[in-house]
Amino acid sequence: MDGLTHVHSGKVRDLYRTDDGRLVMVASDRISAFDHVLASPIADKGRILTAMSVWWFATLADVVPNHLISADDPVIPAAWRGRALVCRPLQMIPVEAVARGYLAGSGLLDYRATGEICGVALPPGLVDGDRLPAPVFTPASKADLGEHDENVSYATVAAQVGEATASQLRDTTLAIYAAASDIARDRGVILADTKFEFGRTSPDGPLVLGDEVLTPDSSRFWPADEWEPGRPQASFDKQFVRNWLLSPASGWDRNGTEAPPPLPDDVVAATRDRYVQAYERLTGLSFADWPGGE
Ligand code: ATP
Ligand code: MG
Repeated sequence: MDGLTHVHSGKVRDLYRTDDGRLVMVASDRISAFDHVLASPIADKGRILTAMSVWWFATLADVVPNHLISADDPVIPAAWRGRALVCRPLQMIPVEAVARGYLAGSGLLDYRATGEICGVALPPGLVDGDRLPAPVFTPASKADLGEHDENVSYATVAAQVGEATASQLRDTTLAIYAAASDIARDRGVILADTKFEFGRTSPDGPLVLGDEVLTPDSSRFWPADEWEPGRPQASFDKQFVRNWLLSPASGWDRNGTEAPPPLPDDVVAATRDRYVQAYERLTGLSFADWPGGE
């Protein structure tokens, strides 16, 4: 790619640097489930998640500054149109800043084992999908590719990045969660939990929101009208994929060593529809209007 230097590839995104020192984050159509990147891409997933991130950055601009420069810049090659963001490079803080308002995922596992999440004590008797008494900051350490992020206590974060930065991370994370979950609620969507990454443009500068935000890859979105604590919740994105992979039809053993099989076309199509639905429901916009679809 002319004028772009590859700097990093994650499970679903690739990162480039421009000749003038900006970053280009490119979202692919790859999807992961049960910690595997699946062989079947979901058409338009990269564009849908990029559109969602852009909308949230703008919608939350009064709550927190962010790294987005442009979603439609001449430096973006035509093939990446609609799924690449030009961003300000940040000195990233190596903490996954997670907020949880509901019990699910690794939070549920930790709670079942210890009655706490990241050292935050919770009332006894909570079940899968329950709403927490109040949203909690439950940070995780950023793991290398292929490793699990590990939930850590606030004290561990403070020891790593300093008390001032740790409290900024906690307060900003909870403020964004509160604003975003109110907006989602109004549109019939529960934001169960979400992960942010922050950085700074200078060591004593303010926290700047980086990475992708409030997408189904970084968050759990549940349709509010299907919410029923006591069982795993229907999710807005990977539910079809997970259900099919766990069904006899896939022939796949989650606990085995084999990679999951390719997804059938109808599962791919239903999953794509679900991503579009999540975008349109949250933003009130039509995905057909997002660039790159022509
Ligand atoms: P995973 O697939 O598990 O997410 P990963 O985090 O290594 O793996 P990506 O999320 O695709 O992979 O990579 C994006 C990387 O870019 C992350 O390391 C993130 O911290 C970093 N990043 C995001 N925004 C910025 C920014 N503005 N400046 C510098 N780095 C950034
Ligand atoms: Mg990442």
